[in-house]
Amino acid sequence: MNGVSHDLLVPPPTQLLKERIQVPQKRLLMGPGPSNCSPEVCAAGSLPIIGHMHAEIFRIMDDIKVGLQYVFQTENPWTLVISGPGHLAMEAVLVNLLEQGDTMLVGVNGLWGDRVADLAFRIGAKAVRMETEPGNAFSLQEIEAALVSSRPKVLFLVHSESSTGVMQNLDGVGDLCRKYGCLLAVDTVASLGGVPFSVDKLKIDAIYTGSQKVIGAPPGIAPISFGPRAVEVIKGRKTPVKSFLLDMKLLSVYWACSPGDVRFYHHTPPINLFYGLREALTAVVEEGLPAIWKRHEENANRLRDGITGMGLELFVKNPADRLPTVTTIRVPEGLDWKAVTKHAMEKFDIEIAGGLGLTAGRVFRIGLMGYNAYPEKVDRVLAALKDSIKMAKY
Ligand SMILES: *Cc1c(COP(=O)(O)O)cnc(C)c1O
Repeated sequence: MNGVSHDLLVPPPTQLLKERIQVPQKRLLMGPGPSNCSPEVCAAGSLPIIGHMHAEIFRIMDDIKVGLQYVFQTENPWTLVISGPGHLAMEAVLVNLLEQGDTMLVGVNGLWGDRVADLAFRIGAKAVRMETEPGNAFSLQEIEAALVSSRPKVLFLVHSESSTGVMQNLDGVGDLCRKYGCLLAVDTVASLGGVPFSVDKLKIDAIYTGSQKVIGAPPGIAPISFGPRAVEVIKGRKTPVKSFLLDMKLLSVYWACSPGDVRFYHHTPPINLFYGLREALTAVVEEGLPAIWKRHEENANRLRDGITGMGLELFVKNPADRLPTVTTIRVPEGLDWKAVTKHAMEKFDIEIAGGLGLTAGRVFRIGLMGYNAYPEKVDRVLAALKDSIKMAKY
């Protein structure tokens, strides 16, 4: 006997027996993510579980791979899904591309660049911060000057700074990175699928996104892709990647990314999330990227017109820098922003977000992503915002 009897130290928690799981059925998620999924995607997620080495899951993974190559607009063979949220894909890019003492140049104009710089520091790399005010993007001249002075191994830019609502223009950045001999890594968690984008045309070497934002799948898995220059750097590392789970040399074999890869057990991935993503990608392919991009642009304009029509001010001054998928609105002087988001949730069951990091207390954030980027939802969130501001003022 090992001293353990049938007497329990911790009694059964009765709260689990009182009622079954309670989830709001109709909450409209108009923050910067997660976004609502279609009923088809939700249904796919509840299909029976199969094993991670069964032939059927390999087919689903292959379908996801080609679906993601389409959404990323890339021919990269190393295109797959990280078993974790956007943050884990961010970690995957950094731990695979950087070694102890390497320098990474990071554009910091909001929370996400700041987080990436912090992560680089945690893994023993040197992060050089290129900064600008929240609400601004970086110009090609600013980027070139920072590349010249820091000569990094990797330049990291956030394409969709969802904390400020800024979209970073990436035209010409890939060429600059080649000129100065560095890799280009990009976070597109809040934008990919919702704006015209091409990984290969933009010459991006490492990229990731989220499943739960524009793609319209459940949260917890993160699409990622590495181009040939990044793969070469990873294969030429002097030290092993410090994470087994995120080691792309191993993970790409489980995903059979290269000819001759013999799949092996690496870890048990979230099978049901794969089903949801597979279904969401089918919807993307059915509608087609150009139509989806157009739909996001039109609905973002409808939202912006509604906001300015109410007398509110958009946070991002330069219209060209405005992210269509996350719109930021300046909180009017003296308005209790928390009362606004609370009222929208309680009366309308609609999520409107406040700011994050440097924009906390300064902005409202409204997301228009995937399944939610439709006129009727824009109109619902505008009506809820209007009513909630009126309520909060009194
Ligand atoms: C939401 C978001 C993330 C983080 O994604 P999680 O799935 O919550 O980890 C990273 N970057 C940007 C730009 C985001 O908007």
